[in-house]
Amino acid sequence: MAGAAAMLLARDGHHVTVLERDPPPPPAPADAWNTWERRGVTQFRQPHSFLPRFREVLDDQMPDVADALVADGLLRQNRMAVLPEAITGGWRDGDERFTTITGRRPVLEAALGRATEREPGVEVHRGQSVIGLTAAERVPDGIPHVTGVVTGDGRCRSADLVVDAGGRRSRLPDLLTTIGARRPAEELADLGYTYYGRHYRSADGSIPPMLGPPLQAYDSVSWATLPADNGTWSVVLVTVAGDGAVRAARHVEHWERIARSYPLIAHWLDAEPITGIDLMAGIDDRVRRYVVDGQVVATGLVAVGDALACTNPSVGRGASIAALHAVGLRDALRKVGVDAPRELIDQWHEITAGTTDPLIDDTLLFNQHRVNEMAAQIAGRPYETDDPGWHFGRALTAAAGHHPDLLRAAMSVAALLARGVEVRPWDGIVDQLAAVGPVEACTGPGRDELVAIAA
Ligand SMILES: Cc1cc2nc3c(=O)[nH]c(=O)nc-3n(C[C@H](O)[C@H](O)[C@H](O)COP(=O)(O)OP(=O)(O)OC[C@H]3O[C@@H](n4cnc5c(N)ncnc54)[C@H](O)[C@@H]3O)c2cc1C
Repeated sequence: MAGAAAMLLARDGHHVTVLERDPPPPPAPADAWNTWERRGVTQFRQPHSFLPRFREVLDDQMPDVADALVADGLLRQNRMAVLPEAITGGWRDGDERFTTITGRRPVLEAALGRATEREPGVEVHRGQSVIGLTAAERVPDGIPHVTGVVTGDGRCRSADLVVDAGGRRSRLPDLLTTIGARRPAEELADLGYTYYGRHYRSADGSIPPMLGPPLQAYDSVSWATLPADNGTWSVVLVTVAGDGAVRAARHVEHWERIARSYPLIAHWLDAEPITGIDLMAGIDDRVRRYVVDGQVVATGLVAVGDALACTNPSVGRGASIAALHAVGLRDALRKVGVDAPRELIDQWHEITAGTTDPLIDDTLLFNQHRVNEMAAQIAGRPYETDDPGWHFGRALTAAAGHHPDLLRAAMSVAALLARGVEVRPWDGIVDQLAAVGPVEACTGPGRDELVAIAA
């Protein structure tokens, strides 16, 4: 995903060198699913959905790249347009924001990777692993200034600014301590989310109809149905570690039996499966803070994307947040040049504090609440919390299909186009929620029935 940042910076006149550990270059996007191996990205073949916010960043900042992705087979789809008019109330101005450009991860990354390699001002070196940092000899205020990186072949590459886009396994804190910097503060938690996903392909290139939102929360489990490129999609069962009753979902026949018992999910299985059941667990929510006790740990260096903050993919926000980081970094550099390193870091923190930090905080909070809710349901009790934001979000999601305004508010949050606290004051939202009253979001088997089906 570093490609978006590289291209944005290059278009502002910076010379960008991308060092990528994985050697194989991106193949033609049409071949990527079958031929591209990427050891550096653990989730490479896992189900992905790229949100409308990701598309919006591309369309706003690099419309030619957005078009190139679609030309390479990615799916451009409007989430409002695929729903029945009886629910949407018909097309409205502004609904174009719900358009997404999405696809299987290898296909999207191959298309983005090829666009990056075509970009003037960007040099991509593959098979180059960053194993160390270089720092200036003078250390004003005891804060090291990073001047470049060391790669696995022992070569030092100098840079005015080093950007860590090394993903969730970035080793930047270790590298920083070797140049005498303080270790960034890290908040880390494995909430126990467990994903059982499967990819499908239709015979005629079509995508099944959406009978509910892409992410559907039932009592103790959630389901995601994720349209993708070239008539493919994925279906994901989201559970929490310790839910022994659904552990058998790792076997195809159990997974299918469970999936078919959910009326809004079953029809997504009526096609050719192109994978078995892909299981993913042990995914940390991790945020790194590069300002410790009011002091930045180093200058000449920033982290973006998952290297800065990675959250559980239960709401599919990682790529959108990485894209917003790319825009934020470009803007920070527009305001403060690399020759004012301390001010640049301050500017970067100011921008992320006002843009991506609140989105990350919301995501972490959602992930925690949902895990608690699933655990409570497994234990046979309702989930209780006095967080009004959680109750509002739950009520809004459940009522979305009952009023076109509520649908747009709920979809804006799900698409990462607005935060829950931002849509709440929208005209009439609270009144409409009250008028709809308490409703069940999606209907499916209750807990006891699920346990019996999964056995
Ligand atoms: C199971 C799962 C499902 C997900 N689903 C979604 C989804 O549906 N939607 C969504 O938006 N997000 C999703 N995400 C999150 C998304 O994949 C990440 O947020 C996104 O990939 C972050 O991009 P990045 O560029 O920061 O890191 P990455 O995409 O992880 O890229 C990091 C790159 O750095 C390279 N690298 C690492 N270390 C070094 C080094 N030392 N030297 C050189 N190169 C190095 C790696 O090889 C890799 O290419 C999911 C994540 C998981 C785990």
